[in-house]
Parts: sequence; C-alpha cells; structure tokens
Amino acid sequence: MADKANKYPEGVPGKFYVDDQCIDCDLCRETAPANYKRNDDGGHSYVYKQPENDAELKLCQEALEGCPVEAIGSDGE
Ligand code: SF4
Repeated sequence: MADKANKYPEGVPGKFYVDDQCIDCDLCRETAPANYKRNDDGGHSYVYKQPENDAELKLCQEALEGCPVEAIGSDGE
C-alpha cells in the first residue's frame, strides 16, 4: 500500500500520489497519460495533474489498481 509520507515531492498536491516504491514500469503513464508523467532523472512516475473530470478520475483509479507494487495512493491531500 502506498504511503503518502513517502510520496515523490514533485507530484502535485491532491488525492493521488506516487510513492518511492515505484519501479518505473510505465503502466500508470500508459493508462492515464494526462495525469502521470515520468521523472527522467529519478526514473520514476509522479502525479503531474490531479484528475479534473470523471474520465480522468476513472483512469487514475485504474492505474492505482494496476500498479504492480502498489506505489500509487489516493489518500493524499
Ligand atoms: S504503475 Fe506503479 S510502478 Fe509502474 S510506473 Fe506507475 S507508479 Fe511506478
């Protein structure tokens, strides 16, 4: 389970975040490209934009459920 205490700081504030367990597998960026982006220097994903409509929310949630290491959380602030 993702832990907001370990979230990558470049992620924008809000519900969704990526924590330091990310293994850079690309699934979230493929699933919700408007919301997850890659930090090329760090080799991991972060939340670039919080979902702004139901379609994006659904995809962000789908990415959370699909993340193989549970690095995505939805209890952020
Ligand atoms: S799906 Fe999970 S492990 Fe894969 S890039 Fe996204 S946050 Fe990282």
